[in-house]
Amino acid sequence: MTLFKYKSKRNLKTSSEPSAKIKKKKGDELAFVVQEHHARRLHYDLRLEVDGVLKSWAVPKEPSLSPKIKRLAIHVEDHPYDYKDFEGTIPSGYGKGTVSIWDKGTYAVDEQSAADSEKTMREGLKKGTLHFTLKGKKLKGIFHLVKMKTAENNQWLLIKKEEKTDLPKLTNLEKIYWPKEKITKGDLLAYYAKIAPWILPYLIDRPESLRRYPDGIEGKTFFQKNLKDHPDWIQTELIHHDAKKINYLLIQDEASLLYAVNLGCIELHPFFSRLGKLENPDYLILDLDPKEAPFSHVVETAQAIYTLLEEIKVPSVCKTSGATGLHIAIPLGAKYPYEVAEKFAEVIAQIVLKRIPKITTLERSLSKRKGKVYIDCHQNHFGQTLAAVYSARARPGAPVSTPLHWKEVKKGLDPLDFTIHTILPRLKKVGDLFAPILGKGIDIPAALKRLQNL
Ligand code: MN
Repeated sequence: MTLFKYKSKRNLKTSSEPSAKIKKKKGDELAFVVQEHHARRLHYDLRLEVDGVLKSWAVPKEPSLSPKIKRLAIHVEDHPYDYKDFEGTIPSGYGKGTVSIWDKGTYAVDEQSAADSEKTMREGLKKGTLHFTLKGKKLKGIFHLVKMKTAENNQWLLIKKEEKTDLPKLTNLEKIYWPKEKITKGDLLAYYAKIAPWILPYLIDRPESLRRYPDGIEGKTFFQKNLKDHPDWIQTELIHHDAKKINYLLIQDEASLLYAVNLGCIELHPFFSRLGKLENPDYLILDLDPKEAPFSHVVETAQAIYTLLEEIKVPSVCKTSGATGLHIAIPLGAKYPYEVAEKFAEVIAQIVLKRIPKITTLERSLSKRKGKVYIDCHQNHFGQTLAAVYSARARPGAPVSTPLHWKEVKKGLDPLDFTIHTILPRLKKVGDLFAPILGKGIDIPAALKRLQNL
């Protein structure tokens, strides 16, 4: 290990940069630093302590925490250990410009001791592939440095590793969540890992009400909106509800989805609207709630709603709630505030009530429903949430809220046909039937005009 190159490149008599000394005594932890270097071109110097010097890479763009972003990293000469604290101006010559510390901390390889980490780093440097866990203020987690197979043999790529493969937060995998079916928490996590690509479009950027079932479907359950303690990589959104401030979880990727499920969220309950347009829902939902009514009446009510919506050229998708009801969704394209969505849903519900008064009601109170299907149009409210499409439900049989072809909404429909065991083969066959709900929204004034002309 020499610092010959370091010495030969600079005039240490005129520069205040540290002298070319190799560190002798070893500490328990290895240091890393990233220096923001305003030289001829701004770049970021990543330096990792190995064997008493700092192995160094010049990264032309700011290092990223996104696993999707690969940063070019030019392998440069070793720097002395003391360089990790250097800040200041290089007055002339090589590296002329100002240096400040952008991030610093310690690092290790696979949680090994400093000596073993250095050994793995030495081998990795020879092979051209390194990985290490940075514990800085800005940079946290596992990073890879991989040498590119290019003509210039100093070009490497700096890449952040995906977090989901080392989620700590997966615990009690053997815990039984569905006692009769013997479905464990691990089985539920496996379901959500597989359904992630299908469900994520309906979760991303939507504040999430956590409905937790820490002891499975027969244990206690509670809604938790405010998320207090969470790992740094979890994104949240602070929302003012009247006088309260609530810090909502955002499910932005597979890792945060599994994080929520690991908390005991068997079901997922996202907002109807997304960040940036939180006041305007992407869709409205008519929630058909039977309680004592037979499911065949729920199906008839859904058919009547579909008929009316077809008459006024309003597209819709019906999904099983996964529990006892059906949800009918209408795309709005985030064009109208919740109040307008709710009002339109109410108009639809009132007309359907007039058409089939014997089996439907708009009475919320159970005693007044008299065994009729409640058409609930009041879920279309800021802060209100329903089980998301593809959410499992905490009910016997592990049913899943599943979108249907309208032709499937007929006598004999059984919501229990759609479970965490059957949904994936079905998706492969029919695709995502709910996709139109995130598409172009309807024109509410035009639809109201058509209603008047019926
Ligand atoms: Mn530099």
